[in-house]
Amino acid sequence: MINLILFGPPGSGKGTQAAKLVEQYALLHISTGDLFRYEMSNDTPLGQEAKSYIAKGELVPDEVTIGMLRNKVEANPDVRGYIFDGFPRTIAQSEALDALLAEKEGEVSKLIMLDVPDDEIVARILNRGKTSGRTDDLDEDIVRNRIQIYKNETSQVFDFYAIKEKSIKIDGVGSVEEIFNRLCDEIDNL
Ligand code: ADP
Repeated sequence: MINLILFGPPGSGKGTQAAKLVEQYALLHISTGDLFRYEMSNDTPLGQEAKSYIAKGELVPDEVTIGMLRNKVEANPDVRGYIFDGFPRTIAQSEALDALLAEKEGEVSKLIMLDVPDDEIVARILNRGKTSGRTDDLDEDIVRNRIQIYKNETSQVFDFYAIKEKSIKIDGVGSVEEIFNRLCDEIDNL
C-alpha cells in the first residue's frame, strides 16, 4: 500500500493537488473537510455537530473526526492506498491513523508538506471564498484563526512523523503543474 498524508496549512493547495495525484497513482482521496461539508449539506447529526466548530475555524473534536475517518477507510478496503488530506490534524488523530493502518498491515508511507507563507495563504483563501460557498473562507478573522490553530496544534503532526523519518517539506508556491511535479518526484522515490 501507498499511504500519503498531504499536509500543510489551510489554503496550501492540498485539495487541488490531491485531485491530480488520484489520477496519477489511483489512490483513494480522503479529505475530512470534504466529508464534513458533505455531512453538513445533508444536515446529518454529524454535520450538525461539526458545523459549530467549522464556522468558527476551530477543529472538530478528535473522537468525531476519527470515527468519521475510520468509517470512510473501512468502507473502501480494497484500494491500493490512500491520500489523506486535512487529516491527521492532531497527535491523537496521528496515533489513531497509525493504529488503523496497522490493522490493515499498512503504514504511513510519507507525509508531504506544502510550504506556503502566511500572507499568500490568506490571500488564496479569501479569493477562494468568493466562489467556494464556504463561509469559513469569507472572514479574515476566521481564516487567521485556522492558521493559528494549524501552527499551535497541527504543525506537531509534522514532527510526529519526522521522528519516524517520514516527513518532508516541498515548496508550495508556483504553478499547479510545478507543484504537482515536485510531489510526483517525491512519490516516485518511495
Ligand atoms: P482547510 O484546509 O482550508 O482549512 P478543510 O476543508 O481541510 O479546509 O477543513 C475545513 C474545516 O473542517 C477545518 O477548519 C476544521 O474545522 C474541520 N476539519 C477538517 N479536518 C479536520 C480534522 N482532521 N480534525 C478536526 N477538524 C477538521
